[in-house]
Amino acid sequence: MGKDKKLCKWDKEDIQADFKKLKKLVKKPKYVCEKCGRAAREDSALCRPVELE
Ligand SMILES: [Zn+2]
Repeated sequence: MGKDKKLCKWDKEDIQADFKKLKKLVKKPKYVCEKCGRAAREDSALCRPVELE
């Protein structure tokens, strides 16, 4: 999988293969994806990031 694949696009295989990276991405989230409902610390990890209050 590509390094810059957005968290929104991760499937089960990606999650299993890169679980450590996933934990970093979702730790203390600052953004939530308006489209997919996933949360991440970096807006670049999401396809439609909205800042969390
Ligand atoms: Zn998304």
